[in-house]
Amino acid sequence: MQPNPSADIIKKDIAIIGGGSAGISLAVKLKHLTTVVVEPKQPDERDVSWALWAKSAQLEELGSAIKGRWNQWRLVDHQREILHTSDLYQYISLSSADYLRNCESQLSPNTQLVRDCAEHIQSEGCGGNFSVAGQRYHAQHIFDSRPAKLDKQGLKQHFLGIEIQTKKPLTETKIATLMDFRVDQSRGLHFIYALPFSDRSLLIESTMISTTLEPMDWYRTAIYQWLKDQSIEIESITREEHGVIPMHETLAEDSTLTRIGAASGALRLSSGYAFTHIQQQISQLAAGIEQGEFKVPQVISGNIGRLDKIFNRVLVAKPGLGVDLMMKTAGALDSEGFSRFMLGRATIKDWVKVILAMPKIPFLTQVFRS
Ligand SMILES: Cc1cc2nc3c(=O)[nH]c(=O)nc-3n(C[C@H](O)[C@H](O)[C@H](O)COP(=O)(O)OP(=O)(O)OC[C@H]3O[C@@H](n4cnc5c(N)ncnc54)[C@H](O)[C@@H]3O)c2cc1C
Repeated sequence: MQPNPSADIIKKDIAIIGGGSAGISLAVKLKHLTTVVVEPKQPDERDVSWALWAKSAQLEELGSAIKGRWNQWRLVDHQREILHTSDLYQYISLSSADYLRNCESQLSPNTQLVRDCAEHIQSEGCGGNFSVAGQRYHAQHIFDSRPAKLDKQGLKQHFLGIEIQTKKPLTETKIATLMDFRVDQSRGLHFIYALPFSDRSLLIESTMISTTLEPMDWYRTAIYQWLKDQSIEIESITREEHGVIPMHETLAEDSTLTRIGAASGALRLSSGYAFTHIQQQISQLAAGIEQGEFKVPQVISGNIGRLDKIFNRVLVAKPGLGVDLMMKTAGALDSEGFSRFMLGRATIKDWVKVILAMPKIPFLTQVFRS
């Protein structure tokens, strides 16, 4: 829609484009500045599972958005099962809709949520002008959380998941299956991810790590085959989710704007996990803004970024090694080490264990190509 030139321009200290994980988390923390969050979709239109490893303080903080929690998780291939059990970390799955709704309900009276798309964005220093449904806005600072553009040739994690009610009670509800590689590996690194929310409710995702997306029925077939192999029958399908997460550096929707969230690099390129990094980035950014510092912190260190890129280059160059690399990474670490590793908080000892477990030649080849 074209901006209405006769309408008064609304002035704000801060504008946040996109009220997803990063945008709405930032908006909640900005209590004293006038803020507008522009987000076209309702939380229910964006209900997916956001999973992470959390300790007790974070479990409390995320409270009612937690849909499932497990202190055991496993990776499986045809040869072995690696089972981690932790007293310190829980693997949790959030309902993104509940998380977004909770955040929206906590916005301060200084914060306006506009349910539409931001258009005609013109940056001007750190801020700029834009319009929403014909209304013009000006903000001193604009933070853009819109998803980045995917590179067609780049490595991606892509998946389809279904949440089902089962006909019979599940025999195993205490373990989250992070990766079950006993599926078709002919199109790229492929695994099933399965989270039992109760003895009758299960999320199953067919996840691929490759450069090429598959037709939706391909993932569905993999899910149905896995369910058959596990002798699990579907009573009903309650929800479906689909996602493509870049495992490569991405281009901004608009490179003149300040980015936050996954599109700003708060995403582990080797795993697709972003929630914890986004929370970290937003907490630091909000604390900075309180002090008059608007620079967006980079929460994934340069070293981790480089190692993730080398890992991904090995996956592209030698896709056949993928299962072994994932199993060896999990096998080299105990449950706490693995949680730290996935959260980007691995100690030097954790890194040494992982590096020693990796096949040396494929990694050295990619190191020298960088
Ligand atoms: C299906 C799926 C499952 C995922 N699961 C996990 C997981 O288990 N664990 C994990 O750590 N990470 C996960 N991720 C990765 C990451 O955590 C999420 O993508 C997360 O939502 C990124 O947050 P964000 O705020 O950067 O972007 P988003 O949450 O995508 O927010 C961007 C927002 O911008 C809005 N928008 C777009 N265009 C406009 C416009 N013109 N004007 C205004 N708003 C606009 C969109 O509607 C969207 O709400 C998952 C990603 C997907 C897609």
